[in-house]
Amino acid sequence: METGLGEGVVRLVILGGPGAGKGTQAELLCRHFSIPWIATGEILREAIAQKTELGGKAQPFVEKGELVPDPTMIEFIQSRLVLPNASKGWLLDGYPRTAFQAEELDFLLEDLQQRLDWAIWIDVPDAVLTSRSLARSRQDDRPEIVQRRIEQFRDCTIPILEYYERRQRLITINGDRSPEEVSQEIQAKL
Ligand code: AMP
Repeated sequence: METGLGEGVVRLVILGGPGAGKGTQAELLCRHFSIPWIATGEILREAIAQKTELGGKAQPFVEKGELVPDPTMIEFIQSRLVLPNASKGWLLDGYPRTAFQAEELDFLLEDLQQRLDWAIWIDVPDAVLTSRSLARSRQDDRPEIVQRRIEQFRDCTIPILEYYERRQRLITINGDRSPEEVSQEIQAKL
């Protein structure tokens, strides 16, 4: 993968609705840049299974397909981004989920004297998100929950896109294509 980003520390956010293909692209990017993939949804599911304190706080919201409250998420991300393996950069998947979280992330990075390189938005039409999500078989992917998550994505994520757009940190990718084509467009734009 050839990109305009140098060899140094790379910090990325990947954005997209449920079923946008974020996971596939995240994996490719993390392998290429040798950075950890910090997927908050997966981390929360794991925390719930392990019955940790974070899991206990998140469980009632995750089960309903609602967003976990900002203070819990911000506290988590603060603790995660100071771990040793975050010093070489990272890719955040599932965070930020609200404009407030995006702003708090910038405040945190400022404190750490760090900077986000890019927010990559994988843009996919709602109808495609719905059919791709229903094709997956996770327990929280029942039709009404899928619908709720897509609505939530629209309500909460659009302000995040605007937030990064205004700061010239947004890369928009057409995600309604094959994973290879999506990956090529990301490479070309980074
Ligand atoms: P995901 O796998 O990214 O769709 O996340 C699954 C669930 O985890 C979401 O439906 C939320 O309940 C919760 N979640 C994950 N990331 C966040 C976040 N940044 N803020 C609030 N809730 C989150």
